[in-house]
Parts: sequence; C-alpha cells; structure tokens
Amino acid sequence: MGSPLVLLDVDGVLNPFERPGEEYHRHRCSPRGVTFRLWLNAGHGRMLLDLAERTGAEIAWASYWCEEANEWIAPRVGLPALPYVPIPQFPGAEEGVSLGAWKVRHVAAWVGDRPFVWFEDELDAAERLAGEDGVPPHLLVAVDPMEGLAAHHLDRAAEWIEALAR
Ligand SMILES: [Mg+2]
Repeated sequence: MGSPLVLLDVDGVLNPFERPGEEYHRHRCSPRGVTFRLWLNAGHGRMLLDLAERTGAEIAWASYWCEEANEWIAPRVGLPALPYVPIPQFPGAEEGVSLGAWKVRHVAAWVGDRPFVWFEDELDAAERLAGEDGVPPHLLVAVDPMEGLAAHHLDRAAEWIEALAR
C-alpha cells in the first residue's frame, strides 16, 4: 500500500455554487479564454496543507480543471502547484458512460495502490468507485455544493487517514 492521497475537486467543493460565508470572494478565472466566476476561500489552502502535514498525505487535484487548477485555483486559495488526475475530455454519453462515471474511472486508474480521501460533491462517486476493480482503501467525503469544503470535512479525513496508519 502506497502513501495516502487527498483528492480535491474544484467545482462544488472549493468553489461552492453560492456564497456560503464572507470568507469567500468572487474570482474570475479564464482557462483557455473561457471566463468562469468562482467563489473561492483563501483559507482553504492552509486547512488542506495542515491536513497533509498532520497525516503525511499528498494533495492532488481530481477535477475537470486538471492542470488549469494550478494556474487559476491554487494561488487564489493558498495552495502550491499540485499533481493532478489527468481526466480527458468527456467523450459524451454516446460512448455509454456518464460524466460522473468517466471521472471516477480516471481517478481509480490514477491512484494505483495508494489509499485516498476524496473531497467530492458528485453524489454517485462512492457507488461508482465500488464498481471499479481493485480500488485501494478510500473515503469519499461528500461535500454539499451549497456549503463548500468546511473544517468538519477535513476532520473526518484526518481521522480516517490516521486510523489507516495504525
Ligand atoms: Mg464537483
């Protein structure tokens, strides 16, 4: 078993659908010339880096933002550039796979044998992971996309990773 990972979604997790509190501020992000307006919390980076330090886990992006997250998201939330799951463009439902299943398939392939915590707002991700072969131990922490990532999510993650190490 490899060292643990903390996988991080962007939309619905770092960028909630509505502003949940005054620590969130509007940012314009324009990956490849397309502008999105996001709610981002500059305190998220510190919280996540504390979690990584405390547990010895490595943080990585698991988001359709892929490498664009390092340019557009990381500096605005106080994170360094991170490794990312390379999720190819969704081929479309005609390939017989849903958008959510496509992401899970690529996450499962990328983690290898490393246990992982995944902060994700897609409700079916846990079930979909259960349907993939050979997925290492994991904890799906479901984040309410109206609330965004909060301290209680990080506490759950820390407890789970620490229990894994025992
Ligand atoms: Mg999401």
